[in-house]
Amino acid sequence: MATSRTPGAAPGVAAPRQASAESLLALKRRARRINKALAEKYPYAHAELDFRNPFELVVATVLSAQTTDVLVNQVTKILFARYPDARAMSEADPAELEAILQPTGFFRAKTKNVLALSNRLVDEYNGEVPGRLEDLVTLPGVGRKTANVVLGNAFGVPGITVDTHFGRLARRFGWTQSEDPVQVEFDVAELFEPRDWTMLSHRVVFHGRRVCHSRKPACGACPVANWCPSYGLGETDPLKAAKLLKYELAPGSEALLEQLLAETHRAAEIRMESQRRLP
Ligand code: SF4
Repeated sequence: MATSRTPGAAPGVAAPRQASAESLLALKRRARRINKALAEKYPYAHAELDFRNPFELVVATVLSAQTTDVLVNQVTKILFARYPDARAMSEADPAELEAILQPTGFFRAKTKNVLALSNRLVDEYNGEVPGRLEDLVTLPGVGRKTANVVLGNAFGVPGITVDTHFGRLARRFGWTQSEDPVQVEFDVAELFEPRDWTMLSHRVVFHGRRVCHSRKPACGACPVANWCPSYGLGETDPLKAAKLLKYELAPGSEALLEQLLAETHRAAEIRMESQRRLP
């Protein structure tokens, strides 16, 4: 049975977000307006890494460091066909594994981590991925971000996943001022109910990839512009901003967007099909 986790204070974590003119109550209200608007904009938001079980998700998340989910999904398709579980992966020939993982970058370190991770799972957890944060973070290559992805998506335990997109947007929204992912997680956790954490993470990451980009945020085409203190950081002209949108929101992707909105329950499948059609 899934249970929520209360972040609580972590050792070494600084005091929460700095004081601003906005009260905590007003900040919570604004944060929830943003979450609602994102939910309406992205009813099809989901984990963008493909997986069928906790083992596949933990490996895919380890591989996703410094590369795109699209690329990881291409690689894991081959990887899991060859090594379907922790036991098979733990017995893999390192050179063969390196060759498969090469496109994801940092492939030597990733090969080492995936092998060590699989061995630990076989030796200590009977080949299964543990469903507790404190166990997950002790696995090779698994940090707090990966552990939260696995808990939230493979075990149904609410978790906030602070990747580069989430951290950037949380700061732009004024939900935190911290650059430290753990502090960001604690600051944002204070603003939402645990039941919202996992989907909030997906929606914010979706928004970061499609609209609120690192260098050129499309403020003029942004569904949360009314509640964002950083409005104006990017292009505010609606027509110019629309050209900056990506993936299913990009100009020319109307058919894909329509399909995702019509079949939200099949969103991951539709996305996979659309990626397969890419040259
Ligand atoms: S208004 Fe601009 S800065 Fe704020 S979330 Fe939207 S795109 Fe990002």
